[in-house]
Amino acid sequence: MMLKENLEDIENRICDACRRSGRKREEVTLIAVSKTKPAEMIEEVYCTGIRCFGENKVQELSEKYEKLPKDIHWHMIGHLQRNKVKNVVGIADLIHSVDSLRLAEAINREAQKKETNAKILIEVNIAKEDSKFGIMPEEVLDFVKEASKFSNIQVQGLMTIAPFVANPEENRKHFSALRKLSVDISREKVNNVCMGVLSMGMTNDFEVAIEEGATMVRIGTAIFGERNYAV
Ligand SMILES: *Cc1c(COP(=O)(O)O)cnc(C)c1O
Repeated sequence: MMLKENLEDIENRICDACRRSGRKREEVTLIAVSKTKPAEMIEEVYCTGIRCFGENKVQELSEKYEKLPKDIHWHMIGHLQRNKVKNVVGIADLIHSVDSLRLAEAINREAQKKETNAKILIEVNIAKEDSKFGIMPEEVLDFVKEASKFSNIQVQGLMTIAPFVANPEENRKHFSALRKLSVDISREKVNNVCMGVLSMGMTNDFEVAIEEGATMVRIGTAIFGERNYAV
């Protein structure tokens, strides 16, 4: 595996995208999406200095959390069922995929139980695709206002999974729309809500996402190689 080379290449591309858009490199956090990949590979990436890893399955997240260094920041990026919330709160630093008030309520209850604060992002279905989870863009403000009432949840921003497209430029309008939505919401000054995080951009489109304001990019394939779901 060429993990180190892959990471260097991604780092250069992130820096270039920041430069093109007049942003500072520190404004963008790289989340290495390690789903389906073994702990040994994560350790190798960890040794290059990466501390943020993304997982989309609760079971896998728990196992890797147990096995790997405790200074890793785990990001839950996959669809989350309410009955699995107990294994995520207190383990994941940030839950990117909150897409219903019932889920937010369950996270809040678990966070209360553990006497902690759960940091969350609202997942937005920015391109209104039938196949995607996420709140519709026009419903996000009301959602945020409701979610802000939960005492043990802190809304930190928005997340989206853009459409799978051949040319990443096709997603520019979606990234730009998510950023605009986040600016509009922060203008509302909802208590207990911050819109500092914009989690958008993956292997195929992270440079465009950074140019449009992403503060977190979630990159799997370009670091770890193709995933094999058959094994
Ligand atoms: C798998 C996944 C990614 C990473 O996708 P790549 O195309 O491999 O970079 C990012 N975000 C989410 C929510 C994912 O499930």
